[in-house]
Amino acid sequence: MSFSGKPMVGATVVTVGDELLLGQTVDTNAAWLGRELASRGVRLLRRWTVADDIQEIRSAVTAAVRDADLVLVTGGLGPTPDDMTRDVVADLLGLPLIEDDEVLEHIRARYHDAGMGEVPEVTRRLAQVPQGARKLANPHGTAPGLVMEAEGGALVVLLPGVPRELRGIFLGDLDVFLAERFGGRLPPVHLHVVHTTGIPESRLAQQVAERLPEGTAPASLAFLPDVRGVDLRFTIRGLSHEEAEGHVRALEDDLREVLEPWRFEAASGDLAEAVAGALRGRGKRLAVAESCTGGLVMKRLTDLPGASDVLVGGVVAYANEVKVDALGVDAGVLTGEGAVSGGVAREMALEVARSLHAHAGIGVTGIAGPGGGTSAKPVGTVWYAAALDGRSVAKMERFPGDRESVRERAAQAALFLLLRLLDGRILPDD
Ligand code: ATP
Repeated sequence: MSFSGKPMVGATVVTVGDELLLGQTVDTNAAWLGRELASRGVRLLRRWTVADDIQEIRSAVTAAVRDADLVLVTGGLGPTPDDMTRDVVADLLGLPLIEDDEVLEHIRARYHDAGMGEVPEVTRRLAQVPQGARKLANPHGTAPGLVMEAEGGALVVLLPGVPRELRGIFLGDLDVFLAERFGGRLPPVHLHVVHTTGIPESRLAQQVAERLPEGTAPASLAFLPDVRGVDLRFTIRGLSHEEAEGHVRALEDDLREVLEPWRFEAASGDLAEAVAGALRGRGKRLAVAESCTGGLVMKRLTDLPGASDVLVGGVVAYANEVKVDALGVDAGVLTGEGAVSGGVAREMALEVARSLHAHAGIGVTGIAGPGGGTSAKPVGTVWYAAALDGRSVAKMERFPGDRESVRERAAQAALFLLLRLLDGRILPDD
C-alpha cells in the first residue's frame, strides 16, 4: 500500500532500558510512537527493546538501518554512565561527539530557572552532539532530540526516554522534519493552529477534554506550550483540504467558549503582530511605558516591520522620579499604593498615551527578581495596564520563573490585555 504510488516510509523503533526488559517500566513510548507513526502514514516494520548495553544497542541499530527509512531510538540519553545511546550511535555512524554551545546554554538556563545553580560536570555530557546531527528542541527537558543519517540513507533519530519529553519533541520539531523529509511519501496533512496565551497548558487541556469527551477525531490535537503561551495544533491526515477544513470548523465551534477568552490570530504566531493589526484596523496609535520589562514590549512591537504606523514610542520609567517627572504619574498614587500597583500601572498607561499623543497606552510595573520581593509583593508580582481613549483597565499577576521569564510573561500579558481592550473582549473599568 502506498500514497501516490510511492513506497511507504518504513520505520523501526528501538526502546532502550533495563527497566523495560525487567518489566519495572511499561514501554508506553513504543506504543505511543506506533500510534503516532501509523496516523502519519508511516509503516512500522518492527519494535525492539534492548538493555542498557553497548553491544545490544549497537546491534539493534545496525540491523534497523539496513531496511528502515527511519529508526527511532528512545532512552539512554541522560547524563549517567548507564545512558550510552548517544555515544554508541555516534560511534556506529562514525561521527565524533562535540560539545554544542547552544545546547549547553539551554541546559544552563534550565538549571538556573530551577534554582539548581551550576551545571554539574556529568550533566555537561548532555551537550555532546554528534558532528553534523540535526538538533530537535526539547520543550520539557534538557537533552535535545538528535537526527543523523546512516550510510545507506536511513535516518536515525535519538529521543529521550522520559515520555513527556519524547512527545514534546515528536509533536514539535520532529513532526516538521518528517514532513520536510518524507512529505511526498506521506498522505496529505492538514494543519490548523490556534494560538492562545494567558492560560496554562494543563488547564486548557482539561477544559478541552471536558468539552470534547469523545476526543477530536479525525483530527489529532497537540498542545505546544512555551513561555508566551500554548498553541493548539489540529492535524488531519489523508483527507481533502475541504473535508479537513470542515472538520476543523466543527471542532472550533465546539471549543468556541473554551478558546475565546485566550485566543489570538497572527500568521507568525507572535501576539505583537495581532496587537499591531488590531491598532491598524481601528486607526489607533500606541505609546508604551515600561518599568520591569525595560523596553521588552517596545522591542516586541518594533521587531515588526511597519510598526511605525501604529507605534508612537515609549518610555522606560525605572526610577520613581522618571515615572513622575517624565511620564506625569501622580506622586500621591506612587507613594500611596507603591510603585508596583494597579494605580501606577494605570497612570503609566494613561500618561504615556497622553504625553506622546497616542490613543492607546500600555503600562507595566513589577518585581522581576531575583531580589526585591516582599511577602505582600513577592518576586514575579507584576501590575500591567492598558488604556484606550482616556480609559483604562489593570491586572495583577504573579508570574513564575526567573527574571527573564517573568519579564517575558509580563510583556506578553500586557500586550494581550491591550488586544482584548481593542477587540472588546475586556472593558475599561476606570
Ligand atoms: P534522562 O535524561 O531523564 O536520563 P533518558 O533519555 O536517559 O532520560 P531513561 O533514563 O532511559 O531516559 O528514562 C528516563 C525515564 O523515562 C525513566 O523513568 C524511565 O522509566 C522512563 N522511560 C524510559 N523509556 C521508557 C519507555 N520506553 N516507555 C515509558 N517510559 C520510559
